[in-house]
Amino acid sequence: TYGNLTLHSLLKKQTERYPDKEFIVFKDESITYREFLNRTEKMAGWLLDRGIRKGDTVAAFLSNSPLFYETWFSCAAIGAILLPINTASTPSELEYFLSHSDSKGFIYEENLVNEQHLMVAEDLSLLFIQKDEENWKREKEASQFTPSDEPIDPDDVACIMYTSGTTAKPKGVLITHENYLFAGHSSVLYQQLTSEDRYLIFLPLFHANSQYYTSMAMLAAGGTIILLERFKSSTFWDDVNRYRPTVSSLVATVIKMLLECPNHPAEKEHTLCKAGYGLFITHHDLVKFKERFGIKLYQWYGMTESITTNIVTPLHEEMITDPVSGIVPIGKPGLGHEIKIVREDGKVAIPGEVGEIIIKSPSLMKGYYKNPEATAKTLQHGYLYTGDKGYYNEEGFIWFVDRNKDMIKRAGENISSIEVENVLSNHGSVEECAVIGEPDSLREEAVIAYIRCSEGKQVSSDELYEFCKDRLSYFKVPQEFRFVDDFPRTSIGKIQKNLLRK
Ligand code: ATP
Ligand code: MG
Repeated sequence: TYGNLTLHSLLKKQTERYPDKEFIVFKDESITYREFLNRTEKMAGWLLDRGIRKGDTVAAFLSNSPLFYETWFSCAAIGAILLPINTASTPSELEYFLSHSDSKGFIYEENLVNEQHLMVAEDLSLLFIQKDEENWKREKEASQFTPSDEPIDPDDVACIMYTSGTTAKPKGVLITHENYLFAGHSSVLYQQLTSEDRYLIFLPLFHANSQYYTSMAMLAAGGTIILLERFKSSTFWDDVNRYRPTVSSLVATVIKMLLECPNHPAEKEHTLCKAGYGLFITHHDLVKFKERFGIKLYQWYGMTESITTNIVTPLHEEMITDPVSGIVPIGKPGLGHEIKIVREDGKVAIPGEVGEIIIKSPSLMKGYYKNPEATAKTLQHGYLYTGDKGYYNEEGFIWFVDRNKDMIKRAGENISSIEVENVLSNHGSVEECAVIGEPDSLREEAVIAYIRCSEGKQVSSDELYEFCKDRLSYFKVPQEFRFVDDFPRTSIGKIQKNLLRK
């Protein structure tokens, strides 16, 4: 452990070191470490006044704003548990999150909810339901924080984070204080961050990415968080100009959108020198991005359950690709991580063999809340079974192949949907695509490609068929191409293939 540190004691330590330094910058507001600590302690006092105690869960239905951080850290200060809720949740999804998590309090932003959302919350007889309003600010200001008699242990749960639900109903991942601290400190190491760094965060704060690798890294380094409500390509460079971030975290859609934008005067000369990214980007786009914007990209691989970045492209390594597929690796195991690839027969794979990625690290989730079966399946003998398939080469670089559930089985062959998508995205008219398997009476599954064409472009199924045939083994070539305007997506833009399958 980090000398028994918890989220609150780490914040206190950093406040002693950097009292007047900016911790969070949001719109016109600049909040120093001292001010932020003060705000969280006031709110912690307010939560105690409402009857919230150690181990109680407080749900937050909040967009990206300093209030999100206050709620997170004030819960942590009294040993309560934050439940960050995806703000796109429907009333019935909200019902699921609040009741499954046994929440005791509900904090919401008025413009995010409708009457049904509130009715759901009211039906649950919580200790409090709080709207973000002026009156509340005064109440918090008047509160007093007294640390609880019961000490908070680094192994206590600080957050229940529900998985994205890309593949199934979201599961509640239990994250401890120590998990957060490990995520922050290891992220500082991978990204070579210091207290001079300013992290641009625009992905939703209720998601793992914006908490583990980014926010926690800034707290651990004593740096500054530059928070945006959301990503907007039209104002991105103006924001970079105004707030001078040095590092950021991107996803595939963001990289693509920035590449599509017309040139901006600030895109060549700016402070943003590096950014992590997850999810699949073609080698071609990576090179274009680096050349055009001068931002070094490093890939990371992780998931809600594994808390931190488990596999990361080392900053000093040059980009390499798989000689056959042309796909870039997700990187090498991060510090303190042991990664194995296990084949279907349970044996450990050798280089080049595809199998499930399993991870051992000091920072795996404690388990899924109220789901012992899923916990037992995912955590086995100290390893996290990721449900993802991959392989590694002789030098230890690891490639992501596909999610187990997205692999397509055709006449006895296993096909990675991502490999087919990679080929299709190299076609000039294809902006985005998703490949899935569909039941096929003759050959187990048929390969189906969903295509979104680039603006103003069109392409026929026959042409795509020929294009794939020249580049893929015959059994991997899609049997059908379906053209769509957009895809069902999660909050961070991932295509939900389970919905496409339906
Ligand atoms: P659910 O588990 O509810 O279906 P989810 O798995 O999408 O949702 P997250 O924990 O946010 O929820 O995402 C982690 C998953 O994202 C990984 O298991 C992996 O499938 C995918 N992923 C993460 N990093 C990468 C990467 N660098 N390249 C490709 N896929 C990645
Ligand atoms: Mg998952």
